[in-house]
Order: sequence, then C-alpha cells, then structure tokens
Amino acid sequence: MAELVRIRKKKLQIPISRLRSMLKQIEEKEVDFEEIRKNLDFTASLLEAVYLDGTRQCLESEDDLQQLQSDGVPSEVTDWLASTFTQRIRRPLRRSDEKPKFRSIVHAVQAGIFVERMFKRAYTATMPDQPAAVINCLRDVDRWSFDVFALNSGSSDHALQTLFFELITRYDLNSRFKIRISCLTEFLSALERGYCKYNNPYHNLVHAADVTQTLHCLLLRSGLVHWLTELEVMASLFAAAIHDFEHTGTTNNFHIHTRSEFALIYNDRSVQESHHLSAAFRLLQDDRLNIFINLTREEWMEMRSLVIEMVLATDMSSHLIQVKAMKSSLQQQERIDKPKALSLLLHTADISHPSKPWALHSRWTKALMEEFFRQEYFEDLLNPAIIPSLLEAETGDSGLDSFIT
Ligand SMILES: [Zn+2]
Repeated sequence: MAELVRIRKKKLQIPISRLRSMLKQIEEKEVDFEEIRKNLDFTASLLEAVYLDGTRQCLESEDDLQQLQSDGVPSEVTDWLASTFTQRIRRPLRRSDEKPKFRSIVHAVQAGIFVERMFKRAYTATMPDQPAAVINCLRDVDRWSFDVFALNSGSSDHALQTLFFELITRYDLNSRFKIRISCLTEFLSALERGYCKYNNPYHNLVHAADVTQTLHCLLLRSGLVHWLTELEVMASLFAAAIHDFEHTGTTNNFHIHTRSEFALIYNDRSVQESHHLSAAFRLLQDDRLNIFINLTREEWMEMRSLVIEMVLATDMSSHLIQVKAMKSSLQQQERIDKPKALSLLLHTADISHPSKPWALHSRWTKALMEEFFRQEYFEDLLNPAIIPSLLEAETGDSGLDSFIT
C-alpha cells in the first residue's frame, strides 16, 4: 500500500508543480494563456491516467468470492457464498457496440450543476395535503440515511406511494410522460395492495420504497443521473418500485421444490423475479392504471425492455456474474452497457441496508430473519425430505439468496 502511495505521489509531482507555477503566474498577473492551456491539458490527462490506473489496481486486488479461502471463514460459509453469488448458466453479453465509454461517466459525474437545477424545487412538490411528519421525512430524501420507516409511519403505511409520487414529481417525469395524477395515484394504490398480499415482514411496500429511495440516492450522489435520459430515470425508478411486487415471502428454491404454480409458469428460472415483472406489467393493461399510456411505441418498448432487464438482475444468483462483467468492462476501458450498469445499480440498492445507519440495518435484519423463519415453518409443515432446509449450509443452490433481495 505504501508503495502504491509512493508511486502515485511520484506520478503526480509534475502536474502539482505545473499547477503551482500557474498559480504563481496568476498571482503575479503574468498570465501566459497558451502555457496555462497546455499545462491544464497535460495535468488533466495525467490525473485521468492515474485515476484509471488506481481503479484498475483496486479491482485487481479484490478477491473473487468464488476463490474465497481463509482460515477464519468456516467452509459452510464459503460454500454458501459461492452457491449464493454464482449461477451455472451464463447470460450472454449484449449490445456491446452501444456502450458509452467509462470516461464519459467520469465526465458526467463532474457535471454537478444538474442536481441543483433539479432539486431547487420545494419539498412540498409532493401531494399537497401531506402531514408535517411526511414533509419532514422527505427533506432527507436525497440522503443515504433516509428513514423509510419514519416515512411509512408518517404516511399511515403508504411509504411506497408517497415516495414514488415525490420522486416522479421532483424529476418532473409526470410532465415529460404526460402522466395524469389520478392515474398515478390509482396505479400506486394497486401496487401497494400487491405488496400487502402475503403480509411479508421484509418483502413488503416499505422495502420497495427503501430500494426506490436508495436507487435515487445512488443516481444522484454518483452523478450517474447526468448520464441518463429521462426515460432511463423513469424506468429505473419504476423498476425499483415494482421489483418485489407480490413477493410470496419465500425463495425461488421453495417454489421450485414445492412445484408451485409460479415455478411451473416460469420453468424454475428466476421464478419470483419473473412474477414481479409479469404481475406489475399486467396492472398496466388496465387503462385506468396505465401510467405509460402516453408513451410512444418506441418509448414503451425501450422502457419495458429496460425494466425487465433490471428486475431480472435482482435474482441473487446473478450477483457474481454482474460484478465480474462490470469489473471486466472497467479494466478493459470498454464502453459501459447502460442496461447492465442500471441493473447493477438496482441490485446494489436492493442489498444496501447493511451499509445504512445501524438503527435501519438492525430493523431490516430482524424483519428478514422473521421472514426466513416463517419459511422454515412452512417447510416443516410440508415434506422435509422434498425441501432442503435453509438452515443446512449446502454446497448446491441454497435458498438464503432470495431472502436478501
Ligand atoms: Zn428486494
């Protein structure tokens, strides 16, 4: 590490001295614009090179979970990690010719003005007659520490519709896509009803609201929002809001082993994720709920395709593939595939609560454990010989994965 710091310092010495020299020129009012232009150009190129080099070294130094080997980690945990974060079937890479360069993301991140322009709107942009507690909560909607539980209490268990409405209004997406407020309200009510269907402790409307807010925070704080079109922002927020719609509170493996209706419909492939998508898009078949009714055919096709890709990627079994593909793109300075980047972002938001303040993380963990033991109870009622117990650390596909997302 010390060696790395020394090399970086050495590389940076020339641009630092050039910057100092330019400062001196300016202070002494002896400005040679051509020289300053050349020096700035040189400095920017060198900083970019150091940055990319540093990113590459960080990526190379990370251990692959598949190769996780440590005396301190029990073999059951290692096995679980490997089985949870990998899958046997690789999905093909696609649309490589459409990827924007990573450097363009870096440039986009630097363009911070957009944030101020978009978010100078008043917090009361949300539904007009909101209680003070809701308005108070929404003041923190751009923060990582946002308290979604407080929002849910303040809004009488309507965190999802309150938050989605607020974000759509803030991004001005309701104007852009000509979404009628009454239609949006109807759609969000139906969405919340779907999340309440199985009365899950964890996979409920509060989790959906949490993931939507976290995704918004990631887009905003990283500057990625500058890189996206309004349609892509809309698709991202929509995907986050629907990503666990009508979740049954059980894992994909539970569906597969019990030969559930969903497993039969979706042929054991990303069973829950396929259902969340299908059921949510089915809501839009009703014109009264179709918030995308005014999109052009092309816009609709692009939106649908992006949402499908993002929600399917919340299946935990695709975790390592996603991480590896992104690492590879960054290392080779390839153009980054937008749907792939957005999918990784939604997946990140979905599993983000361990990085939130303790009070939030602890509450999510308790809810997750409760849901986990509910499934154990169902398994005991059914034939334990047919359904492998989740508490047994297996080397095959264990069921814990779906509890996380
Ligand atoms: Zn989720």
